[in-house]
Amino acid sequence: MLIYNTQTHRKEELKPIEDGKIRMYVCGPTVYDQIHIGNARTFLSFDVIRRYLQYKGYEVTFAQNLTDVDDKIINRANEEGRSAAEVAEEFSAAFIEQMHRFGIKDPDIRPRATHEIEAMQQMIQILIEKDHAYVAANGDVYFSVRSDAHYGVLSGRNLDQLRAGERVEVNEDKRDPFDFALWKAAKPGEPSWPSPWGDGRPGWHTECCAMIHRYLGTPIDIHGGGQDLVFPHHENETAQAMCAWDKALANVWMHTGMLRINGEKMSKSLGNFLTLKDVLDKYPADAVRLLMLQTHYRSALDFQTNQLESSVGTLERLKTCVKNLRWAAANAPQDGELNDADREFGKAVDAAREEFVAQMDDDFNTSGALAAVFTLVTAANKYLAEAGDDISTPVSLRGADTLTELADVLGIDLAAAEDELPHELVDLAAQYAGYQGDSAADAAEQLLAARQAARKAKDWGTADAIRDGITGLGLVLEDTAAGARLRRAN
Ligand code: AMP
Ligand code: ZN
Repeated sequence: MLIYNTQTHRKEELKPIEDGKIRMYVCGPTVYDQIHIGNARTFLSFDVIRRYLQYKGYEVTFAQNLTDVDDKIINRANEEGRSAAEVAEEFSAAFIEQMHRFGIKDPDIRPRATHEIEAMQQMIQILIEKDHAYVAANGDVYFSVRSDAHYGVLSGRNLDQLRAGERVEVNEDKRDPFDFALWKAAKPGEPSWPSPWGDGRPGWHTECCAMIHRYLGTPIDIHGGGQDLVFPHHENETAQAMCAWDKALANVWMHTGMLRINGEKMSKSLGNFLTLKDVLDKYPADAVRLLMLQTHYRSALDFQTNQLESSVGTLERLKTCVKNLRWAAANAPQDGELNDADREFGKAVDAAREEFVAQMDDDFNTSGALAAVFTLVTAANKYLAEAGDDISTPVSLRGADTLTELADVLGIDLAAAEDELPHELVDLAAQYAGYQGDSAADAAEQLLAARQAARKAKDWGTADAIRDGITGLGLVLEDTAAGARLRRAN
């Protein structure tokens, strides 16, 4: 499978360092506020990348940090008159909660910067000993970019071009304006830890590098983040690893394109700033996933809020198709010979999976993969409409299972589609069908059978009462050639 590597500017064949295993790291959030949907786009992309690698059979170890000490956290804490640790704790919990709502799998390892001070100090010590870092007069420790012959290897920038083009913070304690802080000397009112260079706190770039080395070992297979992290964050991370341990930090560097809202950069001052929580409070997580995954992870994503409604409809179309395939399978004769329509649909199922894999193997092309899923939905709807009573149970089930399987790789849960019938069906089935169980799906089946029996007996009163009871729950009862079935009213 091919993955685009930021460092080499091309797609490369994935070659795991250890056979069958992938170690990957994605920079986590700075926990000073709810994350916005741009952050969410990046975390979603890597969730799907991880899921697909697992689908392909790799044993994936996924680590993601929480940056829980930082200027933004300290500023908020000071504004609100509480400690930085309290602010970090609140928004770490909020982040994890929103990730769960969005269907993002927990990382295997979630280090917090404030718990990793020792690992960072060890790395800084090595860099000082090897003359790649120095202690400044003000107590800060800086990495000396000029001491690294490889500096610029990731972003392709060279220091002299940078000097002409970029604004850098002027600071007389640095030997070179591009030197960056590994350790920041304590200031009054800021959290700090003791160190050989005086009390202070770690720099941001130092965190990820030390945690990767500690928990995954260097180099790792894949390091990811948003495109805005290529320079300076990831350039600085890799510089530290090269200089401290004579090893690259990662073999493949992956970066997601930036999310924009309705054609504009998202910012608080433009009033178009959306948190993930805002969006998930209004729309189902899977509809948001569907919308975001329609754009390739490396492209900029223009998030059009007015497309969310139609994405809800698209998700519904997918769920309804799986439900209908399962209903048809449950109601079809079990022993039928396969006919041309069955065989044709069977081929469409295999072709969809093949196309899905081909698209995902090509640098995780989720938009192509989704197109393969919806081609299968179209084929399934045609099969259901045309095959009538002659549905093949195994073929129909294979269609439903394949859609569920492929959607699951994208983190979209269709397995739950079956359980979505309202629980009130159980009472209705108790009343009209003598049903005594507790499953809405079983109750639905019994109700439909009871209605069928009433119709046969020309007991129109009961048949209508069952239909009214069902529609009263927001469901539609469809009489199809394959039998009656229920779906949610759109
Ligand atoms: P931060 O907390 O700012 O370090 O951001 C967390 C992650 O979100 C990083 O990987 C960023 O690159 C990514 N990110 C930030 N803004 C956006 C955006 N507008 N679109 C996509 N990813 C973003
Ligand atoms: Zn990082």
